[in-house]
Amino acid sequence: MHELKVLILEDHSFQLMALHQMLNANGVFDVLTAESVDVARQSLARRGRVDIAICDLHLDGCDGLELIRYLAESGLASSLIILSSAERAVIDSVGALARQLGLRLLGCVQKPASSAALHRLLTLYKEPGSQVVIPPPSVDMTELLTLSASSLALCKSQWVAHYQPKVCFDGRIRGVEALVRWYHPSMGLLSPAQFFPLIERAGLLGSLSWHVLDQALGLSASVRLASGQALPVAVNIPPHLLLQEDFAPRVIQALEKHGVPATVLTLEIIETQDCQLDDRQLEALLHLRILGCQLSIDDFGTGGSNLQRLLDLPFSELKLPSEFVRGMGQDGRKAAVVAGAMMTARRLDLRVVVEGVETRDDLLALGDLGRPVMQGYYIARPMPESELRRWIVAREQGGFEQLGAA
Ligand code: C2E
Ligand code: MG
Ligand code: MG
Repeated sequence: MHELKVLILEDHSFQLMALHQMLNANGVFDVLTAESVDVARQSLARRGRVDIAICDLHLDGCDGLELIRYLAESGLASSLIILSSAERAVIDSVGALARQLGLRLLGCVQKPASSAALHRLLTLYKEPGSQVVIPPPSVDMTELLTLSASSLALCKSQWVAHYQPKVCFDGRIRGVEALVRWYHPSMGLLSPAQFFPLIERAGLLGSLSWHVLDQALGLSASVRLASGQALPVAVNIPPHLLLQEDFAPRVIQALEKHGVPATVLTLEIIETQDCQLDDRQLEALLHLRILGCQLSIDDFGTGGSNLQRLLDLPFSELKLPSEFVRGMGQDGRKAAVVAGAMMTARRLDLRVVVEGVETRDDLLALGDLGRPVMQGYYIARPMPESELRRWIVAREQGGFEQLGAA
């Protein structure tokens, strides 16, 4: 085993040391050790590609999936050993994901690791083509429901933002809304309606939303790199997140991390009655507004506390939900509701974004009502980042008449 080079990612220093010694005992001496994903990346950047990465799944503050994806995308490791005490279903899913990403999975070592188990997997590396066969996970929705919160949290890197464009009436792109999807290794693409109940029950909606915010700001920054202008992004924020003391500082931290101005970010907060902010929380929101973040009331008119909240909180935008807009071209009552909401917004000096524009008739009806910013299937469906980039390039070459072509 002398020629093997191995990376260990394990955030408990004692276990890290024990694994290091086990590798030495197995004749592996070229070992990189890391207690966090960042240190692992730095170490790989300094010392180059490894043959095997031994990767703990449960890390303090994040999960090993981030490193697994990084290893696959960068090609800085060819084989993987998963270290975990997670449930079988989780390990199976992680294994499937790693294989899907193109990593050779040697197998899993249950914690605490034993030298014998490690030896068996290191030997496998030598056998060309060998790969521990973990049966493809046969998870159905009911099995998902049995996942514990900590197991679910490990799936974070599979929660991927899709983006739906928002356009002005003349066709110019005003920005995008980040809408999360779960790229489940065996169940495919899951929409919020399918997996949010699970996430909410596990208390992970906040963590998911921070994760999406990070991706969206990353997109905005990379568009700026390519075009010189940061792409405005809107991110959905569950109201309870506003109650967290560190909410505003975390948003600012995320903006600083990606080096984009606060003006590119809109926080969409769904209407609800049960979110009473105290003075300090309100002050933190105001601070964000002063920095330039936009604050949007999502699905306006569906939460029951609409006008009161508009007066209480420093909103700058009002989003009208699909229910009001879909079919308004044919339904005068819907058109009246939309017209009323738009008038309210104008009087309160708020921007309006209309969701659910599904047909050309809906779009034309909006033209008669003040030409708000629009979002909807008629313009474009939510799409992955790569597709959005192509969409933006195509849109930049076209005008208003192209809207329906997407
Ligand atoms: P939302 O923020 O009001 O997002 C608009 C929803 O309408 C999206 O559903 C979008 O796909 C859908 N939509 C867009 N255009 C049309 C249209 O023309 N017709 C119809 N019928 N629907 C349209 P999606 O992506 O399934 O998201 C549903 C909800 O889940 C979102 O509603 C939002 O409240 C929540 N959500 C989505 N992503 C996130 C996230 O990253 N964090 C949080 N906290 N919530 C999220
Ligand atoms: Mg929204
Ligand atoms: Mg909405």
